[in-house]
Amino acid sequence: MKKKILISIPAYNETENIFPLYEKISSVLKSEEKEVDFEILFIDDGSTDRSVETILDLMNVADEVSLIALSRNYGKEVAMTAGFDYADHDAVITMDADLQHPPETILKMIDLWEKGYEDIYAKRNKRKGEPWFKKLFSRWFYKILERLSNTPVLADAGDFRLLDRKVVAALRQLRETQRYTKGLYNWVGFKKVSIEFDAEERLHGKTKWNFGSLMKLAIEGITSYTTAPLKISMYFGFLISLVAFIYMIYILIKTLIFGADTSGFPSLMIVMLFLGGCQLISIGILGEYIGRIFLETKGRPLYFIENVYKSKKQTSRQ
Ligand code: UDP
Ligand code: MG
Repeated sequence: MKKKILISIPAYNETENIFPLYEKISSVLKSEEKEVDFEILFIDDGSTDRSVETILDLMNVADEVSLIALSRNYGKEVAMTAGFDYADHDAVITMDADLQHPPETILKMIDLWEKGYEDIYAKRNKRKGEPWFKKLFSRWFYKILERLSNTPVLADAGDFRLLDRKVVAALRQLRETQRYTKGLYNWVGFKKVSIEFDAEERLHGKTKWNFGSLMKLAIEGITSYTTAPLKISMYFGFLISLVAFIYMIYILIKTLIFGADTSGFPSLMIVMLFLGGCQLISIGILGEYIGRIFLETKGRPLYFIENVYKSKKQTSRQ
């Protein structure tokens, strides 16, 4: 029997990219006869433009395209989860809708999958059209994350992946609302291998990330992946207490020998402000984790679906 592969594509305001993307994918898939049955699933993440209509137009001419429309914008991580939940295929390929992930790579991924790898992730070897600070920021971020969590974090590996059904089944069980998917891929394990691709510039539209949302993702990445910040703030507390203790003995002896004078206001002020700052930071870190506990204990579903439109191929099969 033919293997079934789902190509899962989260899309948020990608109207202009949908037809070009489909054409590119289907020309790649047709170029090489693989013994594989493809389904292309778009997950509309609450787009406010004409993405849904455009995908429905596409479905009129393309038999293998399906669409899940989510009830609002949940963010890419959750949209991808909706794709995993939908899949009952032998493998799932996740890719972006903006043509930054070249569809030619799909064929190479499938080759590796047939060789027995279960999580094939594409690494970009160049970051075209991205501002230098974004590159710098993301490099630092991965370095720090790697240090803090003691597990290799695969920098430059985005969400362009082929996942075997085993990996998908595992990911499906991780229902945390605060999702840092890259961390999850590593956490579930399985046989991983990387391939390289040249990242292209976005075909149409703008990236949905800005500095604020990247910062948020970075904090999410760290706090959902490791509890190291809590430890660091504790160690820091120990260090400051130690220094304060030594300083205390020094002042005590000084006062006993030379008597007290009223000077020392600047140093008092500095110590107070510094400690106040440290305490606020530690409380903030603590709060970040408690906030996460709060969000998880609500146990809400990750998303709601507005509508599912099955591909013609599937509807005719049933
Ligand atoms: N995306 C999404 N929901 C969002 C933001 C983005 O589904 O809230 C999708 C988007 O349509 C695209 C992919 O996630 O297919 C990557 O988004 P983008 O190109 O903005 O990110 P970048 O490539 O800059 O990291
Ligand atoms: Mg992009």
